[in-house]
Amino acid sequence: MSSIDGLPPLREVISTHDLRAKKQLGQNFLLDLNLTAKIARQAGDLTGSDILEIGPGPGGLTRGLLAEGARHVLAIEKDARALPALEQIVHAYPGRLQVIHGDALEIDPLSHLTPPIRVAANLPYNIGTELLIRWLTPPDWPPFWQSLTLMFQREVAERIVAQPGQKAYGRLSILAQWRSEARIVMSIPPEAFVPAPKIHSSVVQITALPKPRFPADPAILSRIVATAFNQRRKMLRSSLRGLHPEMEAILTEAGIKPTARAEEIGIEGFCTLARIFEARSG
Ligand code: SAM
Repeated sequence: MSSIDGLPPLREVISTHDLRAKKQLGQNFLLDLNLTAKIARQAGDLTGSDILEIGPGPGGLTRGLLAEGARHVLAIEKDARALPALEQIVHAYPGRLQVIHGDALEIDPLSHLTPPIRVAANLPYNIGTELLIRWLTPPDWPPFWQSLTLMFQREVAERIVAQPGQKAYGRLSILAQWRSEARIVMSIPPEAFVPAPKIHSSVVQITALPKPRFPADPAILSRIVATAFNQRRKMLRSSLRGLHPEMEAILTEAGIKPTARAEEIGIEGFCTLARIFEARSG
């Protein structure tokens, strides 16, 4: 394996620091630095950006991001065993890598980052969707990040980019695409990881739009979408009935057939519905 930075190969790092993968931490490590550099390149202009990385582990993606010129990387890692390995990278790239030991769900990284900020991560599967939903639903838009370059299991990636009428289309597709551009940019087979998971993975590139594609109140839109997809096989007049006594009339005014199902309605339709719902709710 060719080295991109003069540091030891990742296989050696893992054995030196005895980083045996722990399932409960969602640990599947990428060992090929050419692959991690390729993932890093998907994130866009790194030289002018601070990067937030969640779960650097032995540092494969971290090294890719730094070798590709990231201005500054803030890496949050829960597993203390990985810290000595990450310290070596800190020394190899003076002043460009900061490592915080802790739980990414508990730490507010913003005081350590200077905009523009991009997020890049091979996320632990157990907190990946929760982090994504937090990043997609900030208090203000545009969010703190310009782009998210994230590895997910393929099925989750397909839900993020799905279009109306597709089986994977749902709440996550609408959250991701209402105010962002979302694309699958790489597919990664199980053999690329140690240990090899049973599933295929995909890298998703999500770029924040300056403003939403269609106006709507975020909380109302989110409530309607969650309720509609909670019973996705039901007609909307029935799945949304509990939200408003005049739901059928609201649907008709929004140009949506009350007999339609959630999976048939695009983002524009849900936004129109949210606006009319808001107006009729007084
Ligand atoms: N980035 C490395 C790579 O690509 O090889 C490791 C990715 S591995 C899928 C997920 C990493 O997230 C592990 O290093 C794990 O210890 C870390 N992790 C798990 N839960 C975490 C949490 N709540 N906060 C921060 N890191 C976490």
